[in-house]
Order: sequence, then C-alpha cells, then structure tokens
Amino acid sequence: MTARNPIEDLAHLRHEFGEHGGVNMSVEASSTFTVIDPETMPAMFEGRAGPDRGCYLYGRHFNPTVYNLGRQMAALAGTEAAYCTASGMGAISAVVLCLCNAGDEVVASNAVYGGSFALLNDFLPAKCGIRTRFVDITDIDAVRDAITDKTKLIYTESIANPTLRLADFPALGDLAKQRGIPLVVDNTFTPLILRPAALGADIVVHSITKFISGASDIIAGAICGTEEFIGDLMDLHMGPLMLLGPTMDPNVAAAISLRIPHLPLRMTAHGERALAVAQRLQDLGLKVEYPGLASHPDHARFAELHCADYGYGGVFTLDLGSEERANRLMDCLQNKERFGYMAVSLGYFDTLMSCSGSSTSSELSDDEKSAAGISAGLLRISIGYTGTLEQRWSQLESALHECGIVRRSAA
Ligand SMILES: *Cc1c(COP(=O)(O)O)cnc(C)c1O
Repeated sequence: MTARNPIEDLAHLRHEFGEHGGVNMSVEASSTFTVIDPETMPAMFEGRAGPDRGCYLYGRHFNPTVYNLGRQMAALAGTEAAYCTASGMGAISAVVLCLCNAGDEVVASNAVYGGSFALLNDFLPAKCGIRTRFVDITDIDAVRDAITDKTKLIYTESIANPTLRLADFPALGDLAKQRGIPLVVDNTFTPLILRPAALGADIVVHSITKFISGASDIIAGAICGTEEFIGDLMDLHMGPLMLLGPTMDPNVAAAISLRIPHLPLRMTAHGERALAVAQRLQDLGLKVEYPGLASHPDHARFAELHCADYGYGGVFTLDLGSEERANRLMDCLQNKERFGYMAVSLGYFDTLMSCSGSSTSSELSDDEKSAAGISAGLLRISIGYTGTLEQRWSQLESALHECGIVRRSAA
C-alpha cells in the first residue's frame, strides 16, 4: 500500500482568483460582513447558511481567506473539512475540549510534544477535570487496556517527538472504531508524507508553524475532520473555537496559502538531505535514529505506509550520550561552523538543533522522559536544505572532529 499523493486533490483548489483577476486570492481583511437580505442574518445564527454558501457573519466564526486555507488543509489531510487556528496548541486544545467534558478521559501517547503533554498532564486535569492515561502508543495491548468507559479519544503523533517512533497504524484506528471513540493524530512532523486520515485517524491536527509554513516566521495551526466536527467546534453555545477564540488572522492565511504550492518540493528536499546526513552519521558509527534508515525499528512499516514521493521527513536524532557533549556539538555547529541554529522548532529552511530533554520535552519528569525514550544527550536535528550537501557535511564533520566525537582519519 503506497499512499495517494494529496497534491492531486490540492491543485484544483488553488483556482480561486483575486477580486481583480489576481492569480492569488484576495485577502478578505474584514472582521464583520454585511448581508443583503435581512433574513440571512438569523439563518446564519441558526446554522442554515454558512461559508459553504458564501454567507459570512463575523471573523471569529469564519473568514473567506481563512476558510479557503481550511479547504486546502482538508485536501492535504484527506478530510472532508478543516479549520485553521492561531497556533498548533490552539488546534489541539480545542479538539480535546470539544470531545471531552469534566470527568472524561483521554488515552494518549507518552511521547508527545512537551506543550501537548503539559496540556494533557497538568492543565486539563486541574482546570477541567479531564484526565489522561499515557501509554506506549506502539504497544496496542497497552492502548486497549487503558481505554475505559470514560475515554473519549485516543491521542497520538504520527511519528513521536522526539523519538520518531511510528504510531501503530492502522491498528490504532481499528481499535478506536471498535470502541466507538475518535483517533486524533498530530501530523506536524510528516505533512504529505503520512496521511493519517487514510490510515484510520478521525481527526488530524497540525502545527502549521513548522514544515507547512517553512520559514519560522508564523505561528499557526489546523484541525482537519468531518464537516460535522468542524461545526461542533464552531457551535455558538459549546464550540471551543467559537468561544475560546484561537482565530487565525486572514493575512496569515493568505501568507500560508502561498507556501502550500511549494510544500511538496520542500518536504522532498528536507527528506533527501536528512536521509543523506543520517546515513553518513550512522556510517561513522554514531547513534542516529531516522525512519529512512533500515536500522530504524519502524522503517519497513513506514516505507509501506508513506507517500514515497516525499521521503521520510526532515527530522532525525543523534544520541551523544550526555547533555554536555550534545551542547558542545551544538555550540560548535552554530558558533564556529555556521551549520545551523540552536533553536527549538522544526521545518525551517535552515537547520535547527535542540537537546530535547532540556527543552521541548522538559515538561516531562526524568521518569516520564525515560519511559518515552528521551535520553539526556539526545539531539533533535531538523535539517535544512540551504547550501549544498557537501558543504554542510564538511561543516558537520569538522564539528564532530573538533568536539572529539569522531576521530580524524589518518588519511
Ligand atoms: C510545535 C508543535 C506543536 C505546537 O504548535 P504551535 O504552533 O507552536 O502551537 C504541536 N505538536 C507538535 C508535534 C509540534 O512540533
């Protein structure tokens, strides 16, 4: 089974012309919208008229430019509908709050983005009485055992941050269906590459901030699912999007929509560079994890499930044994070799490096980190595609020599 290339569905959606025939859509910079017929206003409040029929009410509800980006995100994800939010966390928190009431439970992967972990582990129990049972999401029996009558969703990342283990598709989707609960998947690391909706996910969330934006200049997110679910999120009385208001600005939506056409080129470039560098590091005897390497525990299943046109993603990890060694290498790579930046985040055109345990996964306790497979010297590298491979490799090799991680060969 090789995944269908979502770009085929996306191409025709771009054909929304600007107001004056512009090749790009116009930016609808309005927070409120007029109606021609006074009957339309109550119809919109009653949900009988909406953006699918060209009726707009108020920008926190729907805006045409943001709505158009939502249709593009739905095509990317392979879902019926999508809604774009002010951030990835805005998307994730709205989904959980929409599906759960006080007293309900979530079953979640124990290796998720630190912010998502803190939301589920700290914030939601304290503020809303929503509890999460964390499990090794690659262990389907553990997931099954954690589900109770109160469980309202299963939550995982398509590949875990930062361990890069692949979620157990399609078994997770089958289990969710059997128990009558939705499977929610964060696909931030693998847009285009993995298509969770085709692998059993009911709802797909994205931090657009990362690969989809690609320039580390914008914070944004998206929720992809059924029309009905997007409607629930937007309900005037109980919809977390409508009432908590993590709304995307139309100018941001316009900027992102101009980057989606070259997302395929960028994902391919990230994947080719990551595979080449990860392979060379492994050949030097270093401890590298990358789904594109045959040594990765999920390589074969990933190869079966992904859209091969876009490779295995732009992120790999390098375990340097201690935080001190990892820090020394990053320091040299940034400040001496100019190989990349010591910064959190990923999906940038240049390389970003961070020590996960003391940064984006620092919300986890030491025990939780070790359960999730995050060691102190684990360096997460989101590889950029600027410069040539040989130029970047020579910078990386010099830094490895300089830090005494790899001995210079006699030749
Ligand atoms: C960054 C990230 C988020 C949060 O997204 P924001 O846009 O920063 O709110 C969620 N999930 C994953 C996997 C991420 O990498």
